[in-house]
Amino acid sequence: MFITFEGLDGAGKSTQIVRLKERLGKLAIPVVMTREPGGTAIGDALRQMLLDPGQTQLSEQTETLLYAASRAQLLHEVIKPALEKGALVICDRYVDASIAYQGAGLGLGEEAVARVNAFATSGLKPDLTLLMDLPVETSQSRVAASARDVGPDRIEQRDEAYFERVRNAFMNIAVQEADRVAILDARLTPDELEQEIWHRVSKRLNI
Ligand code: C5P
Repeated sequence: MFITFEGLDGAGKSTQIVRLKERLGKLAIPVVMTREPGGTAIGDALRQMLLDPGQTQLSEQTETLLYAASRAQLLHEVIKPALEKGALVICDRYVDASIAYQGAGLGLGEEAVARVNAFATSGLKPDLTLLMDLPVETSQSRVAASARDVGPDRIEQRDEAYFERVRNAFMNIAVQEADRVAILDARLTPDELEQEIWHRVSKRLNI
């Protein structure tokens, strides 16, 4: 089983991923947890390039391809081997993020970005995607509150209209693929979200 988490920054994905992993661990279900961009040595190098606020040369197309490259490597090294061994894989972001951030946010076209990623992933789709939806304003104030020490990354510096396009694109994907994508209100408390997520995951796992 392959589960992905999506949503704007500040939605609380990392917290919920840790909580979900703990719950599954208590049931002795083998879990592999990963994130992108990154998750492999090659992917971490790409992540650094993608998120460095000092990196001003990257074209929008290159950005899209680097995210896809990081993803292809993660699939090759981590996700596919883990799924083949029967583990449950939880990934923090996946193809939907590229369709939303680069396809809709940058305006490169959702279908074009989906095609690039179909190649990068050999068409492997998650069984379940948990979309943690958050208003852009809330996302930005949460990011500002948490990033005081490090400052915003290159992507986080984009304007509000960019993130509105990203949020809408995530929602469109969820509506179009309602069987795969569950929408969660990321303004709920962490405990409430944990319950909502567990409800959906346990249903999929038939437990
Ligand atoms: O989820 P995480 O905070 O690790 O993501 C790192 C950054 O990459 C975030 O600013 C996120 O918005 C951005 N991102 C992106 N396009 C993707 C995936 C992530 O712009 N396809």
